[in-house]
Amino acid sequence: MPQSKNKLSAAERKALKELLTRRRAVLSGDVNTMQDNTLKKSVSAASGDLSTVPYHMADVGTDNFEHEFTLGLIENEEEELREIDAAIERLNSGTFGLCESCQKPIPKSRLKIVPFARLCIECKKDEENGRPA
Ligand SMILES: [Zn+2]
Repeated sequence: MPQSKNKLSAAERKALKELLTRRRAVLSGDVNTMQDNTLKKSVSAASGDLSTVPYHMADVGTDNFEHEFTLGLIENEEEELREIDAAIERLNSGTFGLCESCQKPIPKSRLKIVPFARLCIECKKDEENGRPA
């Protein structure tokens, strides 16, 4: 499998970083600040246009949707926060998207569902089967 297929573009890394940063803010209870900023921005940009304001409400649905996938991977929000922090660090250091166990690129399709994944699916399975990779 050609590695280039799995290589994240700068835009994809940026999008993932934003996703992780936002998720982090939600988990750490820092949403109010973000919502304030969004409100101020949208009000000053176009008063009456509230299309960007209720994004956090849409997020509630997204969250539930995401949890369908992340169930079993993350035990609690604190752990998820740590994973997100680690993922952001990997994004900054350029090691993001590589399996920590076998060093192979983690498929993009997996990163899109679990952006903070450290392990590829095979290594994750091994880990869950109790075989430390
Ligand atoms: Zn692996």
